[in-house]
Amino acid sequence: MKLIVDVAQRYAKMRAHTAAHLLHAQLGAVFSETKQAGSFVDEDYLRLDFAADRALTGEELLEIQKKVNHLIYAALPVENFETSYDEAIKLWAKAFFEDKYGDTVRVVKVDQNISTELCGGTHVSNTKDIGCFVILAQESVASGIKRIVALTWPKVFEYLQEKDQILNSLAEKFSVGQKQVVDKTEKLIKEHESLQNSFGQLQNKLVADMLRWLPNKTNNPELQLVLEIPSDVDFKIALGQVRKIFENQNFLIYTKEWNFALFMQEWSAKTLVQSLGLKWWWNDQLVQGRDPKVATIF
Ligand SMILES: [Zn+2]
Repeated sequence: MKLIVDVAQRYAKMRAHTAAHLLHAQLGAVFSETKQAGSFVDEDYLRLDFAADRALTGEELLEIQKKVNHLIYAALPVENFETSYDEAIKLWAKAFFEDKYGDTVRVVKVDQNISTELCGGTHVSNTKDIGCFVILAQESVASGIKRIVALTWPKVFEYLQEKDQILNSLAEKFSVGQKQVVDKTEKLIKEHESLQNSFGQLQNKLVADMLRWLPNKTNNPELQLVLEIPSDVDFKIALGQVRKIFENQNFLIYTKEWNFALFMQEWSAKTLVQSLGLKWWWNDQLVQGRDPKVATIF
């Protein structure tokens, strides 16, 4: 049993490793020079790091994924042989870790000219054994170093199933077919925005109506209006409505939580607030602050 598992794991790693070579070859088609900066191969899982001055676009990633899959379906032979380092370099093999190579090197070749790399790893003997290839993500691992994370069959199948489940549950929630999920989501976002808009307008109207009924507590000749805003009213909305309704009037609004806003035409609200020793921020005709003294001063 253990042997079967080991063999299965070994094949899974072989699929991922050969796929990494195909991926590397395709990166070469996008960038004039790609320098592999490391790779990691596990069971039907691979990561390939490479030096690049920019990230691949979504279309480029899709194109690479498509081409690698075409190479898989083309059922190309994968062979390996030993040769001298000099001979291998003459064959244009891609050597990644030059200082690590001895006089004799192992070359892994896909078809005649698809991919030739110096590599000591084990590979499938035909690209069709990889089954399928999907790019999971592109990441930035360091400055100038990008990483592609990809899967090979049968992890691709698991990945697709998982995606299908997510899409299915969304479609079910929205009571639409899978293909309509995007349209439905856009529609819901628009509806949400419009509801938020109406809610905002309604809130403003309610606050505006309420403001007209609040008792004016002013006993200061400089201020035409002093209102205590109830705690359950949004202070920002109240301030906006007060400015709109009581245009050009000097006012103070405050809450039980000591938030206040003071607006003065004639002389600077800032000077007044400072002279009263209130804690304040925002320097303008309009001063806002938070201070327990505010309810008792005016
Ligand atoms: Zn390799």
